[in-house]
Amino acid sequence: MVVRVGVLGATGAVGQRLIELLDPHPEFELAALTASESSAGKTYREAAKWRAESPIPADVADVTVTETDPGAVANDVDLLFSSLPSSVGAAVEPAFCEAGYVVSSNSSNERMAPDVPLVIPEVNAEHVDLLEVQRDERGWDGALVKNPNCSTITFVPTLAALEAFGIERVHVATLQAVSGAGYDGVTSMEIIDNALPHIGGEAEKLETESRKLLGTFDGATLDHHDVEVAASCNRIPTLDGHLENVWVETATDLDVEQAKTAMAEYPSIGLRSSPDPLIEVFDEPDRPQPRLDRDLGDGMAVSAGGFRESRFGLQYNCLAHNTIRGAAGASVLNGELLVENGYL
Ligand code: NAP
Repeated sequence: MVVRVGVLGATGAVGQRLIELLDPHPEFELAALTASESSAGKTYREAAKWRAESPIPADVADVTVTETDPGAVANDVDLLFSSLPSSVGAAVEPAFCEAGYVVSSNSSNERMAPDVPLVIPEVNAEHVDLLEVQRDERGWDGALVKNPNCSTITFVPTLAALEAFGIERVHVATLQAVSGAGYDGVTSMEIIDNALPHIGGEAEKLETESRKLLGTFDGATLDHHDVEVAASCNRIPTLDGHLENVWVETATDLDVEQAKTAMAEYPSIGLRSSPDPLIEVFDEPDRPQPRLDRDLGDGMAVSAGGFRESRFGLQYNCLAHNTIRGAAGASVLNGELLVENGYL
C-alpha cells in the first residue's frame, strides 16, 4: 500500500528532516509541501534554506510550496506530517483533521489533551486507539496523533525498560543541542562558548508527557502513570543529539546489571523505521556522546551508558538524535503505526 503524504512546515529544521526520511520511503509518496505565506508560491529550493548534508532530493527541489491551509492541499493526500510552530499548529491542525486528513504532528499543542494519543510506538502503541474516542468526541473523519517533545523521547524508552522494577521517582537533567530550538531559535552570540540553563516550558514537558506516555489505556480512558518526574533543561553548543543524566528510584531493588539487561533486551516493534535494538547499551562510562552516538540506528536508536548505583537510585546517561528520533523520525514512525493499525 502506498500512501500519499504531505509535510506542514516543510521548510524548517524538522521539515527538512522529514523530507530526507520521506523521499526514499517505500510506502509514503511525498505529494504536498506547505509553509508560511512568505514561502507559498516559491519552489522548495527557493523557500527552504536547505541545511542537511545530503542535497535536496531532485524530485522535491522544484515542487511549489503552498500555504498551510486545507484548501491548498490536494484531496488525495491522506496523511500529513506536521512540523509547525505550536501556535500555528494549534490554529490549523484541527482544520486539517476536520477536513478529513490524518495528521502525525511534532508540535506541542494538544499533546496533553485527553483524547489525543501521544505515542512512541515501541512504548505505548496501544494508545493510538484513543483515536476512536477522539473521532467520537470531535466528529472528525481525520485524526490527530502526536509524538512527544524531543527530550521526552530520549529518556522515556529507558524508563519503560525499567517499569518492571516499579519506577517511582525520576530526576533528569538535559544537555540539549541547538537544532532543538529550530533554525531561528538560538543565536551564535548566545550559545558559542556558553550553556543556557533554561529552556522555556521544556522541564514541564518532560515531567508531564512522560507520565502520559507511561500511562495505561483501557479502551476508553487513559490513566497517567503516577511516577514523579523532576527535570532541569540546559542548551549546549552541540548541533544534534540530546544527552540526559537520569536518576531513577524504584520500588524493588535495581542494580546496574539488571538495568543494563532490561534496556538491552527491551523489545523493538516491527515497523520499518523502528531500530532493533531500540536501546543501545554501553559498558563504557563516557558513552553515549552526541557526536559519536546520535546516528545509531539511522538516528532512531536511544543509547544509554554510565550506569552506577547512587544515593538517589540508579544513575545513567541516555542520548537520542533530537531531529530524527526526537522529531521527524518519530512522526514518520507514528505514520507507519497509523497505517499498520488501519487508520488510513
Ligand atoms: P522551524 O525551523 O522554525 O520551522 C518552522 C516551519 O513552520 C517552517 O516551515 C515555517 O515556514 C513554518 N511556519 C512558520 N510560521 C508559519 C505560519 N504562520 N503558517 C504556516 N507555516 C509556518 O521549527 P522546527 O525546529 O522545525 O520545529 C517545528 C515544530 O516541531 C515546533 O513545534 C517544534 O517545537 C517541534 N519540535 C522540534 C524539534 C527539534 O528538534 N527541532 C523536536 C521536537 C519537536 P517558513 O520557512 O515559510 O517560515
